[in-house]
Amino acid sequence: MKYWSIMDKYCHVCKNKLVTSFPSYSDLYRVTSDCKPWKKGGYLSLCDNCHTIQCFINDNWKSDVNIIYHDYSVYHQSGGYEQQVFIEGSPVPRSQRIIEAVINNYSIPSEGRILDIGCGNGSFLRKFHTIRPNFCYPVQRFQTAMSK
Ligand SMILES: [Zn+2]
Repeated sequence: MKYWSIMDKYCHVCKNKLVTSFPSYSDLYRVTSDCKPWKKGGYLSLCDNCHTIQCFINDNWKSDVNIIYHDYSVYHQSGGYEQQVFIEGSPVPRSQRIIEAVINNYSIPSEGRILDIGCGNGSFLRKFHTIRPNFCYPVQRFQTAMSK
């Protein structure tokens, strides 16, 4: 894959001025975050400092995001249930795997508050509640999502 360094864009995370772009990325068909086929195009870059993979935000990106989220349907292929990942051959909800990894690698208290930005239909919060039932969820909308 061809690439080049771009000096007039900044990393979204660390504000590093030098990022590496992959121009042949725009030749590939894409998939949206709700698992729908998406047209070719866009830009994909890698920050040379913090190594975050990222897109450049421009008018085309904003237009794509508006279209994608206008008709967004989370987990539509599984009837609203999150996808499974396979651990040692057994299916496990993706959010459970993430929560276990966080709890095994960081000191997470038994009580606290959590906010999931971009929570979809609340799968992560529902699963988190089963593992840390004494956490409270500060926004009523998330509590509603958890009750489903
Ligand atoms: Zn960076």
